[in-house]
Amino acid sequence: LVEEARAAGVTRFLTIATQHKEFADTLEFSQQQQGVFCTYGIHPHHAGEEGLSDLELSKEIEQAAAEPEVIGLGETGLDYHYNHAPKVAQQHSFELHLKMAQQVGLPVVVHTREAEEDTMRLIDRALKRGPLTLVLHCFTGSSTLADFAVERGIFFGLGGVLTFKKSDALRAIAARIPENLILLETDSPYLAPIPCRGKPNRPAWLTHIATCLANVRDMSTGEIARITTENFERAFPKGGE
Ligand SMILES: [Zn+2]
Repeated sequence: LVEEARAAGVTRFLTIATQHKEFADTLEFSQQQQGVFCTYGIHPHHAGEEGLSDLELSKEIEQAAAEPEVIGLGETGLDYHYNHAPKVAQQHSFELHLKMAQQVGLPVVVHTREAEEDTMRLIDRALKRGPLTLVLHCFTGSSTLADFAVERGIFFGLGGVLTFKKSDALRAIAARIPENLILLETDSPYLAPIPCRGKPNRPAWLTHIATCLANVRDMSTGEIARITTENFERAFPKGGE
């Protein structure tokens, strides 16, 4: 999959940790592959489920952050659509990740679904403490959340949903946000873009998302590729050259 994506012009990869127990494999894969980086974090679906205390999770984050391949924290955030973990546990875990990100100086990949108000509240609480780089991954939020992010210089991860027929509102947001805040992502194996919709997503299909975004913003696909690569390096400085 990585070779196929490289051949399609994808040069940087970020593979996302969602559970503590899977992190060793994620890290090992990043260490073996040129241009593949990873994050460490507990997805809101799994918040609290592995029984790590705050102290243990903080130590795990510190250790992970020392690895050259670990260039961010996450996924963390809030998912009130599925509520696989109780809201209180999700909020607690999200706050801990934000606090630790500020301590170790790494950006945070944020998952938010049907939880915009609490997401904005907890992000603002963290930003009051000090600076923090954030990515709203697979952005499918409202105009309110988009404005919130733009005002705070938060990055937008745009994925396959951008290409879906019913995504006019999302395309309108993608057309108007500043270009220096845009990142491309696949969320593989989920959310395959049109014309591959319904299949397991692959990193090479990032090109379909880039082409769609180029049309939406009236730019060339090459410009989109250049801008989003530069943005990746600003959002994740450890993943730069
Ligand atoms: Zn997510």
